[in-house]
Amino acid sequence: MLETDGLHVDRIREDFPILQRKINGRRLVYIDNAATTQKPRQVIDALVDFYSNHNSNVHRSVHTLGEEATAAYEGARGKVAGFIRCRPSEVVFTRGTTESINLVRFAWGPKHLSEGDTMAVTLMEHHSNIVPWQLLAAERRAKLEYVGLQKDGTLDMEGLEKLLAESPKLLAFSHSSNVLGSINDVASICAKARKAGVTTLVDAAQSVPHMSVDVSEIGCDFLAFSGHKMLAPTGIGVLYAKKKLLEDMDPFQGGGEMIHEVFLDHSTWNEVPEKFEAGTVNIADAVGLGAAVDYLSSLGMDAVRSHDVALVKYAMDVFRPQSDVKIYGPSDASQRGGVVSFNVADIHPHDLATILDGEGIAIRSGHRCAQPLMKWLDVAATSRASFYVYNSFDDVDALNEGIKKARSVFKL
Ligand code: PMP
Repeated sequence: MLETDGLHVDRIREDFPILQRKINGRRLVYIDNAATTQKPRQVIDALVDFYSNHNSNVHRSVHTLGEEATAAYEGARGKVAGFIRCRPSEVVFTRGTTESINLVRFAWGPKHLSEGDTMAVTLMEHHSNIVPWQLLAAERRAKLEYVGLQKDGTLDMEGLEKLLAESPKLLAFSHSSNVLGSINDVASICAKARKAGVTTLVDAAQSVPHMSVDVSEIGCDFLAFSGHKMLAPTGIGVLYAKKKLLEDMDPFQGGGEMIHEVFLDHSTWNEVPEKFEAGTVNIADAVGLGAAVDYLSSLGMDAVRSHDVALVKYAMDVFRPQSDVKIYGPSDASQRGGVVSFNVADIHPHDLATILDGEGIAIRSGHRCAQPLMKWLDVAATSRASFYVYNSFDDVDALNEGIKKARSVFKL
């Protein structure tokens, strides 16, 4: 029986059809979950059921299918709101974290930033929480400042406080790093920012899938995440924002559904969140996200979190005694999300990933969309194992065996 304190992995694995696949004749060991997760039967069935029985456009038609599709889509919004503990009207469906952040860049940014203003991000950000702000800074002739890191990969809190004292207009930072695994104390950072009158955006791409996230406890202004990293389909994600903030923002895209009235020379806007959902929305994938939320809720997010910590601790315990394995980020598993980034001797991460693939093991290698962080770490690339609910200690053991194989290939 494969189980941690948190989860019964044997039972969970039965829900994931793809885990039956053999890769190069081996059991699939999928530990690339920070990139995207696999989908359980319950999510796949929700998509098939939607298209087989309820497909229609939403918010437009009074016919039966139109009403069923609208109820399913809005039902999914309600599930997401319950999951992160906000009002449904504060949940905007987007394509994912990247689009959520870009929505803020276009709909909030220009109105709030003037020449000479500052925005702050951290050195541990994913490119999707850097590049939109670089573009906005260039457009508004504003400055983009970076909060640095301490040696162990945690945020330099002194540096952060100094930056907040300069009253930036925005502080955009990740809840949990996709490279280092570090978990930032979002609630206390948001409290400091609020005191300084600074608007906050939390990139929760690596946290909402892995732990209980309560936006009212965090006290952020914006929070962004992607469905595909939490068992849901690709192409659906969320921007949470306080209702008042959404109401004050300009529209993101113009088109059908986001309007209240259209005149020849101007238009007025729909209520939020519809004001930010122009055109035909991604109905089926939102329904899939609702099913993923149900699935995770049935496991319990505290159990999901304990499970991650148990696997990360086990992996670090396995690798720490191996002198040629360098692990990046905090050494205490309870301070980390579900990712372990590492390098083995001077084996290039791409070579390691290729050898592991031959053993049926899927990991990520490369700069992982965090080039400023890679420069800070002084490496061109790393390998990353990232765990989720269907992983267990046997997957870490398989990775360890795969690394032994790589050493023998390179005669180390
Ligand atoms: N932020 C973080 C921390 C991430 O890990 C990722 C995905 N790797 C993103 C943002 C971007 O997410 P998406 O590609 O789903 O928009």
